[in-house]
Amino acid sequence: MYELLAEPRREVAVSIPLRRDNGEVEVLRGFRVQHNLSRGPTKGGLRFSPDVSIDEVRALAMWMTWKCALLDVPYGGAKGGVRVDPRKYSTAELERITRRYTSELAHVLGPESDIPAPDVGTDQQTMAWMMDTYSVNRGRTTLGVVTGKPIALGGSVGRADATSRGVVHVALEALKVRGISTHQATAAVQGFGKVGRGAARFLSEASVQVVAVSDQYGAIYAPHGLDVPGLEAHVDRTGSVVGFAGSEPIAAKEDLLLLDVDLLIPAAVEGVITAANAGDVQARIIVEGANGPTTTEADVILNNRGCLVVPDILANAGGVVVSYFEWVQANQSYWWSARDVAERLESRMLAAWTRVYDHAESRNLTLRSAATSLAVQVVADAHRQRGLYP
Ligand code: GLU
Repeated sequence: MYELLAEPRREVAVSIPLRRDNGEVEVLRGFRVQHNLSRGPTKGGLRFSPDVSIDEVRALAMWMTWKCALLDVPYGGAKGGVRVDPRKYSTAELERITRRYTSELAHVLGPESDIPAPDVGTDQQTMAWMMDTYSVNRGRTTLGVVTGKPIALGGSVGRADATSRGVVHVALEALKVRGISTHQATAAVQGFGKVGRGAARFLSEASVQVVAVSDQYGAIYAPHGLDVPGLEAHVDRTGSVVGFAGSEPIAAKEDLLLLDVDLLIPAAVEGVITAANAGDVQARIIVEGANGPTTTEADVILNNRGCLVVPDILANAGGVVVSYFEWVQANQSYWWSARDVAERLESRMLAAWTRVYDHAESRNLTLRSAATSLAVQVVADAHRQRGLYP
C-alpha cells in the first residue's frame, strides 16, 4: 500500500509554444500530475510560477489526495503547473499559454476525470479561459471541467474567499484549545493574495488583532493592530501592503515569521519555515494557509518547542471544499445561496478539525500526523475495497 500511494498514477509533461506579443516564439514547460484515482476524479490547482518542476507538482498532487480524503470530498489529488513568471507576461500572452496548456491536456481533463482550479499565479480568469478552451474543443459548454470560475460562468458564490474562511475557522478552534481568547489574540499573516488577504479580514472580523502582514514587495507591522479594511483599500490602490499609513516596515520581510504573536499564518508558498529559522519562531500556533510552508525538519523543531501546527491539508482545505460545491452545482445546474455555501463549508471544516484533534489527543500525535494518518487510511480503505485489477 505504501508503494502504491508513494507514486502518482499518471504524469503528463507538455511543451507550450508561445508567440510573444513582439512576435518571438518561446517554448514553456507544463505539467499535470494525477496522484490517486481511487475515490473519484482527480482535483487540484494549476500554478504559474518560475519555480515549477515535476517534483513540486508531484508533491502538491499528493497533498491534494490527502486533503480531499480528510475533508471527505470524493476526489483523488492532482496538480498542474507551468514554469512561467506570470508577472512578466501580458494578459494576452497568459491567455495563449493557458489555452495551449489546456488543449495539450484536454485528453486527461474533464468533469469526470480531472478538474483544475486556481493556485499560485492563476485566478478566475485563467479558469474561464480553460473552461472555454475545453468546451470549444468538445463542442459543448462544460462548466464542471474547472472550479474557481467567475460567478457569471458557473462559479460558486463563496469560492473566492473559501480558503481564507476555512483557515480562520480552524485558527479560531486552535486558539480555543490553547485557551487564548480572540480579543487578546494577535496574528501575523505572510502573503496578501488569494488566501492571506481574506484570512487577515476574517481574523480581524473575529476580533483578532492582525499586527503584521507581508506580500512579495515587503512586510509591515503595527503593534496595536492593523486597520484591515483600510489596508485592503490601500492594496487596491497601490498594489502592495508596503507604505500603509500607521504601520512600520519590517526591514527583512521574512522576519514576519519570527514575530512574537499567538497566530502565525504562512499563506504564500511552500518551504518558508525551515531548520534555519524554526528555532526562532515565537508564535504559539501556526495555521498553514499555504501548501507545505513548513519543512519536515522545521516541523520537528516547532513541535519540540510546543508550537501547535495546524497542517495545510486541514487548514487550507476550504478552497477545495467549495470547489467541490461548485462542481456539484455546475453538474446539476442548480445554484446555492451564499448562506448555504458558508454553512456547509463551516460544518465540514469543523467536523474535520474535531476528527483530527480527537485523533491526535487519543493517540498522542501531532495534528499533522493525525491528519495525514486519517487521510491515508481513507484512501487505503478505498483501494482495499476496490481490490486489485486484473
Ligand atoms: N489550489 C487549491 C489547493 O491547493 C485549490 C484546489 C481546488 O480547489 O481544486 O487546495
